[in-house]
Formats: sequence, structure tokens, C-alpha cells
Amino acid sequence: MSKTYKTKLASIPKENFLFGPSPVQYLPNLTTALGGQVKVYAKREDCNSGLAYGGNKVRKLEYLVADAKLKGCDTLVSVGGVQSNHTRAVTATAVASGMTAVTVQEKWVPIDPPLYAETGNILLSRIMGGDVRLNQEDFDIGHKAATEQAFKDVEARGGKPYYIPAGASDHELGGLGFTNLVVELAEQEAAQGIYFDTLVVCSVTGSSHAGLIVGAVAEGKGRKVIGIDASGKVEATRTQVTRIARNTAKLLDPELVIKDEDVILDDRFNAGIYGIPDEQTIKAIEMAARTDSMITDPVYEGKSMAGMIELIKEGTIKPGSNVLYIHLGGQPALNAYSSYFPHN
Ligand SMILES: *Cc1c(COP(=O)(O)O)cnc(C)c1O
Repeated sequence: MSKTYKTKLASIPKENFLFGPSPVQYLPNLTTALGGQVKVYAKREDCNSGLAYGGNKVRKLEYLVADAKLKGCDTLVSVGGVQSNHTRAVTATAVASGMTAVTVQEKWVPIDPPLYAETGNILLSRIMGGDVRLNQEDFDIGHKAATEQAFKDVEARGGKPYYIPAGASDHELGGLGFTNLVVELAEQEAAQGIYFDTLVVCSVTGSSHAGLIVGAVAEGKGRKVIGIDASGKVEATRTQVTRIARNTAKLLDPELVIKDEDVILDDRFNAGIYGIPDEQTIKAIEMAARTDSMITDPVYEGKSMAGMIELIKEGTIKPGSNVLYIHLGGQPALNAYSSYFPHN
């Protein structure tokens, strides 16, 4: 395959927010619990950075924050749910870059468990000094109005805002972080003498999944990327993943073609709704925690963990495979979901 995309990717300005390549970890007990025929590993994006617990958004933001700096901006403005990992990462990367952050926190999930707006991610943003704005307005109208207001407020006080869409996804640079992850992974595989034929990743705003697809297609090794939907709106997510993947591919190499069948999105594990776990999610969280002490969350990673477990059990991921679970982070939200884990 052409090397064009790698040269182009390396030429795009980025910040260095990560420790370095995130660890690739073998999960021996989970492997055994799932029959031992498929070797299960995790790419630990949940341990990728020292900036406020890191996670996938920090990897994406390496590119967006570099762009913000080049444009002379001093304030990052973004939006997410009340327990958004993304807005916590926006605040963290802003602070570490000498900027400020304004984040609009929407009611994206129709639940209000104990301390939902006080603990977890939103607490971390407050501790970092972020301008956190809880928006109780109606979802559709409130979303735009509150975010536009935040943008105008920054301008009114003489600042220069940079708008980052939800999840740092629907942005021309949104897919680059996870295309870069595949380049990083290929080097780790060469050093460790292993090859992962299947990557499993959670997908919601879509640029983690899209970036991986572009990386895998560009390599041309036939590596399969399986997205597990956690949005509960699978067709909207599929459309967004496809669009971001094609835009990212075009940016890196005009000859790179992303086919419809490159976008695999499994809708069986989303519990029907964004932000709320079902029994299958909770069981998967417990399984990863009770085998290899790997912690996953009820919004995202518990759902993709449930997906990987079933894909192995049902034989979609074939015996003899090496599967890499892309762990995107998200554990801080667990604090707001303690009521989903009853105790005596
Ligand atoms: C945002 C997020 C996802 C989803 O990633 P997208 O790129 O938005 O599809 C998955 N897991 C965690 C922990 C996240 O914070």
C-alpha cells in the first residue's frame, strides 16, 4: 500500500498530550474465561495520558488543539452530556496548553442518579477550573443556543474561541488521532511479534471508529475493525462514521477509498439508548473486572466489552484470532453510576 498517507499524517501539526504509545496488554484470565481459543488483548487508551485520566478524546485533541493554537485561539468551547468524558478532556487539554475552556453540559441521558452533576467527570472539570455550564434547556433548541451563547461570551470578553464539536468528531481533523493509533500499533506489533486481525471499538460520535477504519484500510493488511454501537441511534452513527472516515481518508491520500462494507457497526449491545446500561452491559463490566481487573464504564466501554464477549462466544471472531479491544477510557463516569451496582 502507498506510504503517502503516513507522510501526510506526519506533516499535520499535533500537540503531545500522551505518555507515548499506549500499552498493548494481554488479558490472560479473560482469554481463558472465553474458552482460550481467541487471544484477547487491550490497547489501553484509558491509560494513555497524564492529563486528567486521559482517554480517546485526548488523543483526538492532539490535532484539534494544535489547530486552535495555529489560529491564535485562547479558549476551547465544547459540548457534551452532564457526565461527558469529552468535555473533561477538552478542559484538561486547554488547561495544560495555557488556554481556558467553556463546556456546555447537556441533559443527554434521561436519568438523575445520586450526585450525577456533582461527581465523576464534571467534578474533575470543576477542579481544573473549567467554566462548566449545566444546561437544563430542551435538548434540541438548548444545545445550539447555549453553545452559541458560550462562544459569544468568550468573544465579548475579548477572547478568541475555538469550537470543538461533541466528541471532537465531526471536525476535519477528528479522525486523525485514531488513524495515528493504527500506525503506532503496527510498530508495537512489529516489536512484539504479534498481529491483531480484529479490532473491537465502541462507537458513538464516530471519529475513533472512523480513524481506525482509515488506518486499517490504508495499511492494506485486511485487518477488520468492528464498531460496537453505544449511541442507540445506529443509522445516524453509521452515517457519521462513514462520512468522517471518507473525509479523513481524502485528507490523507486522495486515492484512499473507504467502502461501505469497511464500516461495520453492531447494534446488539447498545441497550437501546445512549448512556444507560442494561443487564448485559453490567455483566460485561463485571466479567472484565473479575478476570483481569480491567475497569470499564456503563456508558461506552461496558457495551463494547459486551460486544466483544459475544462476538467471541458466537464464533464471529474465529478461534486462532488475536483480538485487540480498544479501551477508550471513561472510568470517571462510574462514580455517577454507583446505583447500578447494588450491594448489601
Ligand atoms: C467518547 C467515548 C467513546 C466513543 O467514541 P467516539 O469517538 O465518540 O465514537 C467511547 N468510549 C469512551 C470512554 C468515550 O469517552
